[in-house]
Order: sequence, then C-alpha cells, then structure tokens
Amino acid sequence: MNRNQSELLFSEAQEHILGGVNSPSRAFKGVGGGTPVFMKRASGAYFWDEDDNQYIDYLGAYGPIIAGHAHPAISQAIQTAAENGLLYGTPTKLENQFAKKLKDAIPSLEKVRFVNSGTEAVMTTIRVARAYTGRDKIVKFAGCYHGHSDLVLVAAGSGPATLGTPDSAGVTKNIAKEVITVPFNDIEAYRATLEKWGDEIAAVLVEPIVGNFGMVEPAPGFLQQVNELTHKHGALVIYDEVITAFRFMYGGAQDYLGVYPDMTALGKIIGGGLPIGAYGGRVDIMEKVAPLGPAYQAGTMAGNPASMSSGIACLDVLAEDGVYEHLNHLGEMLEDGLMKLARKHHVQATVNRVKGALTLYFGSETITNYDQANATNGEQFSIFFKSMLNQGINLAPSKFEAWFLTIKHTEQDIIKTLEAADYAFAEVAAT
Ligand code: PMP
Repeated sequence: MNRNQSELLFSEAQEHILGGVNSPSRAFKGVGGGTPVFMKRASGAYFWDEDDNQYIDYLGAYGPIIAGHAHPAISQAIQTAAENGLLYGTPTKLENQFAKKLKDAIPSLEKVRFVNSGTEAVMTTIRVARAYTGRDKIVKFAGCYHGHSDLVLVAAGSGPATLGTPDSAGVTKNIAKEVITVPFNDIEAYRATLEKWGDEIAAVLVEPIVGNFGMVEPAPGFLQQVNELTHKHGALVIYDEVITAFRFMYGGAQDYLGVYPDMTALGKIIGGGLPIGAYGGRVDIMEKVAPLGPAYQAGTMAGNPASMSSGIACLDVLAEDGVYEHLNHLGEMLEDGLMKLARKHHVQATVNRVKGALTLYFGSETITNYDQANATNGEQFSIFFKSMLNQGINLAPSKFEAWFLTIKHTEQDIIKTLEAADYAFAEVAAT
C-alpha cells in the first residue's frame, strides 16, 4: 500500500507541530514508531487517506464515533447549529434538552454541567469531591487513564496501596502525594488503602468497565464492595464513564452493571464527534459548584450549541431499536473469528470484549488488571497492527486500546477484517 502523502505530510507536520501530532498516541509510539496515516475523509465505518487508500476503521476516534463517521443526522444537526450561530455565551434551550436527555438515560445524574473534554469533566469531579468532603486525597486504579490533568497523571507506586509518583514531568511530587494507586479488581488492596488513609480520602475514581488497558470488566461484586467501603469511610465514588457511557447500552456502564456512583464524568460519545465533557451526580454534592457553591468551574465553550446539537442527535441515533444488539452481534463475530485464527496460527492470544468493544491481547492469561495487560506481548501486537493497517484495517496503535465497533459496520466488514487478520496472525507466527 502506497502512503507517500502520509510520509510527506508527517515530515511537514514535524516542522510545525510538536512531534507532528496533537495528541501523543497518534504518533505510533505504542507500536514501535512509524508514520501515522493522514486521513482525509471518513464515512460510516470507512476512512480514506491522503493517498486514497480505503480502510475499515476500528479506532472510532478513540471512542466517540459509535454512530459511524459523518452520520447524516449528526452532520445535519451540526449544520443547523452553525447556521444559527456557533456560540452565544448565554444559556440556551439546547442545554436544557440535552441535560434532561442525559439525566433520563443515567438516573444518578441528579444535576449535570457541561464542559469541553473528558479531562475537564474528571478534573472537576475531583475538585467538587474535595469541596464536598473537605479532604484532599484521591484513590485511582493502576493503568486507568483519566485525562491529562495533574492529579490523574500519577502512576502506581512500587506496591499495592502506595502513594503515587508523578507519571509526567511537570507534575509535582506534592500533587502526586495526594493520589493513591491500587490495582484494579483487588478489593483487599483497596480495603488496606482505606484503613490506612480513610479519613483523608475525598474520593475514589473508577472506570466501572476499564477501557484504558484494554477492555476489562470488574470482578463480580468488586464495584459493590468499592461503594460500600468508600462510603463507610465517608468518601465519594466517582465513575469515569468517558469511554463507557452509551457504549454498551443506552445509559451508563453503571446502568448496565447496576452499581451507582455519587458522581460521574462523561465525554466522547455524548458529543457525537464534537468536543464535549459533562459531569454530574447527587444534587447535594453538585450544589458545591459555582454559582451555587464555593467550587469553581467555568467555560467559554461549555454547552455550546454545536456540541449540544451533535450530542442530542447522536443519542437519538443510539436510542433506535437494535443498535446495541447489532454492536454485540458484530463484536461476537469478531471475537470468535479472532480467537479461531489465533488458534489456527498457534499464536497465544486472548480477547476481552464487552458488547461492541474489544481488545485483542497477545498472551494467554486472562486479563483482569494492568500488570497482566502490561505483560502481554507488545511486539506481536505491533506486527499484527502494521499488517492490518497495510491491508486496510485501521486499529488503535497501542496494545492497551480497544477496537470500537460502530453501528455502520456490517457482517461483510467483519469478514473482510478476519481475512486480513488471518494473514496478520500468520505474520506474527512467522516471527
Ligand atoms: N477518561 C477516560 C476513561 C478516557 O479514556 C479519556 C480519554 N481517552 C479521558 C478521561 C480524557 O478525555 P479527553 O481526551 O476528552 O480529555
């Protein structure tokens, strides 16, 4: 496959844009380097690059594009919003409509606020939890990504239940000291954390179904126990549903699992492809936010008409009959096919899947936490990834990411993808 234009554009990009990309994972570092593909057009489940090569897309822009690229209803809603004026700086009826829609779908959101990204949503829930509890420390689970605000760019310490260390230059040691990282699915480590620091902890931040070291479900009872222990120690439970909300059903992962947090952060899908974030939760907690309360959060672009319109249109598409059945059906086909091919080529692999989101790991272990995901074979993933890309299948460029199906993928797309995977597994087996 000829990708001359991407080569040229990437060298030009590196002259002007730091690293040639505006978000680091796009630079193919997760697959041992290479030239990222410059896409110029997308429709439904497909991409076309600057050399006019066509791809079946499973990146879904890291998650938001569940309705497929350029969905006509979403595009039309954005166009109408643009014609009516892009930004007012005043309240609008659209904000009411969208807030109500979110609350109807995710009942734990007694009150919501719109922001512009998942990063902002999570960052603000932490601030509000601190304002509400009067405590400083936060617990997070190892390997979970919660955006790029200082507090959540903190890695695990050397053992379970240790204070964190900065995961990024520029995050101070003092900030890292406010964050405790424990392994996901390890309730004893969490219990030990609360016993040690319980009266200093404002909140625990949880991806109810992890999407950031592959798709990893909570062990039965894990989230219920997290809730119980957290509340016993007077702290709050925050769900980061930036990836998971509206991914598995029309609602949150919390509604899918039947376990509910005090506060929730949202993003990605709810913007239908435009920038968005939202947070919300119990009314007595949300009342800590300005203008009612002392915790400050604001935004020039927050609740802008285009993002609201796009989000409303996207949720309307997802509310149609059969959407999640379709995603699940194709996910199942893909999982079965990939596992059969791995066995055929004697490649050790495992698939974690929840409905239309899955991760293919190169390794035989069941993946329930970050250490296990981290121990899977990155070189094999890179070979597989590059082989798939060269055959016109666009995956996320990291062994830790998920494949996201959209409502526009078809059985025929899965069959084509599995034909490519047959060859890709053969290439993995040959090394
Ligand atoms: N939380 C989770 C679970 C995420 O996956 C991400 C982004 N991948 C974020 C927060 C940050 O969202 P954004 O990139 O919109 O700032």
